[in-house]
Amino acid sequence: MLLGAHMSVSGGLSTAFDRAQSIGINTMQVFTKNQTRWEQKPAAAEEIDRWFVRQGETGIGPVVSHAAYLLNLGTPDDALWVKSINALADELTRAEQLGILGVVLHPGAHMNTGEEAGIARIVAGLDRAHALTAGYKTLTLIETTAGQGSALGYRFEQLQAMLTGVKEPERIGFCFDTCHVFAAGYDLRTPETYAATLAEFDRLVGLNRLRGFHFNDSKKGLGARVDRHDHIGTGLLGLAPFGFILNDPRFAATPMILETPKSDDMHEDVENLKMLRGLIGK
Ligand SMILES: [Zn+2]
Repeated sequence: MLLGAHMSVSGGLSTAFDRAQSIGINTMQVFTKNQTRWEQKPAAAEEIDRWFVRQGETGIGPVVSHAAYLLNLGTPDDALWVKSINALADELTRAEQLGILGVVLHPGAHMNTGEEAGIARIVAGLDRAHALTAGYKTLTLIETTAGQGSALGYRFEQLQAMLTGVKEPERIGFCFDTCHVFAAGYDLRTPETYAATLAEFDRLVGLNRLRGFHFNDSKKGLGARVDRHDHIGTGLLGLAPFGFILNDPRFAATPMILETPKSDDMHEDVENLKMLRGLIGK
């Protein structure tokens, strides 16, 4: 089982491995650059070397990265769209250099141009970013969204349209966020609804393309279309969905990453991990 959390890279990229090791996780998510800025210089060769040394020493992986929040491949604004494409290509390059499995990406928002137009824009943007990064192993992991505002990717049909629309579908995987999927209107709280939601994802997208989970409970209810993460077991999802995923043999090799609110000492992660580990085998 691959159970981890989002780790800070404050003090250097490789310090994320120290933090991950200190809380006993075997997979993690990082930002490879400042998530609130467009431009940042590439990682230095020594920083990349140090990353692989610490990964080898700790045995932690696979690692995923999360793209900056500023990107919007669904925007009708050409300047922002081109900036987003270049930023995704930059994220993919940093991740490829670090041997990262995939870059988690919020697919984008249509900004009142309509869902069809937004998806077409996202597809064209993904194609451009992938053309700029030809031959890379690092995947683009499109994240399921809550569908807040004009954000796309909250219906599995929309994810399917992105996957089937792009020129290189082999470059795409998906990240299943428990909070977002629930807030988008897919229930996960009983064995029956869990099975039905996963069957629907499989039918439209394919479970073989599900390459990571984000583990978050939800402060908002089923179908609320509002994205508010809560600690494991304290929100409206409750513990059951996490137990279903943790004990599902189909996901034995799929990274499961906590994204719950946290402070620098990570004591919340420790608590949330304890809750999750308590569900294993139950
Ligand atoms: Zn997430």
